[in-house]
Amino acid sequence: MYKEEELNKLKKECVNCKKCTLSEKRNNIVFSDGNENAKILLIGEAPGAEEDLSGIPFVGRAGKLLTKLIEECGFSRKNDFYICNTVKCRPPENRIPTDEEKKLCENYLLSQIKIVNPKVIVLCGATSAKSFLGNKIKISQIRGNWYKLFDNIDTTVIFHPSYLLRNHSEEEGSPRWLTKQDLMKIKDFIS
Ligand code: SF4
Repeated sequence: MYKEEELNKLKKECVNCKKCTLSEKRNNIVFSDGNENAKILLIGEAPGAEEDLSGIPFVGRAGKLLTKLIEECGFSRKNDFYICNTVKCRPPENRIPTDEEKKLCENYLLSQIKIVNPKVIVLCGATSAKSFLGNKIKISQIRGNWYKLFDNIDTTVIFHPSYLLRNHSEEEGSPRWLTKQDLMKIKDFIS
């Protein structure tokens, strides 16, 4: 109950937030989806059009693919994941959020991590990974690696499902295949 109350309080702050210009055109803030008691907290990039309309992260085409891959690896999206983004409001034309926007929104994300207190954090995609591992990283070189971040929480990196939408192959070594390997490693880690 404590987590739910704390997260609701934080969500209310986001609803009223005007710290950056992304507030100007949003329909909804996109705070989170999933289970606040989950062992896995996944951080994506930013809301897209469908997320902005629904207020729920990862519900568009990319989100549906993420859900499919998660389920194929034996997880339940609803129960096993708490899902959020680096920024809570949609950047226009789905552009990548700027470093300044991410910085201004960071305290909300850090508070979410603190309240949920997951066993593992998954940085989903280059924008999310760059936010915490530095702008010089190359996602193809670091996906599947593990780090200790956010006060010593085990953290790993996976491809963003938008990238996987452009790469249909599921053959061994393909980005989709690698992502499933990465998800299975996360499954082993939390069990
Ligand atoms: S993106 Fe974050 S910092 Fe910017 S207005 Fe939305 S909630 Fe506030």
